[in-house]
Amino acid sequence: MARQRYTRVLLKISGEGLCREGGFGFEMDEIKVIASQIAAVAQSGVQLAIVVGGGNLVRGERLAGSGCIQRATADYMGMLGTVMNAMALQDTLEHLGQPTRVASALPVTAVCEPFIRRKVMHHLEKGLVVVLAAGVGSPFFTTDTCAALRATELNCQVLLKATKVDGVYDSDPKKNPKARCFEQLTYRQVITDNLRVMDMTAISMAEENNVPIIVFNMKTPGNIGRVVAGEPIGTLVNGGAV
Ligand code: UDP
Repeated sequence: MARQRYTRVLLKISGEGLCREGGFGFEMDEIKVIASQIAAVAQSGVQLAIVVGGGNLVRGERLAGSGCIQRATADYMGMLGTVMNAMALQDTLEHLGQPTRVASALPVTAVCEPFIRRKVMHHLEKGLVVVLAAGVGSPFFTTDTCAALRATELNCQVLLKATKVDGVYDSDPKKNPKARCFEQLTYRQVITDNLRVMDMTAISMAEENNVPIIVFNMKTPGNIGRVVAGEPIGTLVNGGAV
C-alpha cells in the first residue's frame, strides 16, 4: 500500500516531545512547535486523534525500579502524567484557535471527559482535535499500544508515530553516521529484526488490524502536514512487500 492523503489519522506523541532532548517536564517552545503543526493540519480538514505519552513526567517501570512503589501504582502515576500532557496540549491548541477535547481512559472528570468511543468519533467528525489521555487505562501497557488500539477502533487510516529522528534506522544514527533509514518495512521485519519502532504489543496489534504506521520526525516544522498529505517522508511500516 502506497502513501495517500489521509483524512482521519491517529498521531502518537511521546511525552519527550513536549520537553527538550534529555529534559523533563514541559518546555513551551517544544509544545508550541507541535501544537502549531497540529492546528494547521486540523484546520485543513483532517480529522486528528492524538495519543500523548507521559515519559517527560513518569515512566512506570523506572519509578517502580526503586522497589518502594509498586509497578501498578507507578503505571497509574504515569497515566496521570499523560493527562497533564493532554491538558497542556489542549490549552495550547485552543490558544492557537483549534477547538480540542481531552478524553481520558481513567476517569478524571474534573478536568476532562471520559473516553467514550462514539463520542470521540462525533468530535472528530465535527472537526475537533481529540487528545486521548491515560493510555488504555490499565497498568503494564504503554501509550504506543494504546495508539495502535485507538487507531483501530476509531477507524483511522494510519498511525503516525512522531519521533525526534527521521524514521527507522538499521542502527543508532546518533552513534553510527552510516546508519541507514528505511523507506518501508513490514511488521514482520520489525518484529524479527527487533527494530525499535514501537513496543512489540503495539506492532502486533497494528499488524493484526492492518493499520499502517509511519515513523517520522516531528521536530522538522511542517512534517505533520507533509506526512498527512502523503509525502514520502519517514518510514512506512505495513504488511506489504518491501
Ligand atoms: N502507562 C500505563 N498504561 C497505559 C499507558 C501508559 O500504565 O496504557 C504508564 C506507564 O507507566 C508508562 C507511562 O504511563 O511508562 C507513560 O507512558 P509511555 O511510557 O507510553 O509514554 P511515552 O514513552 O510515549 O512518553
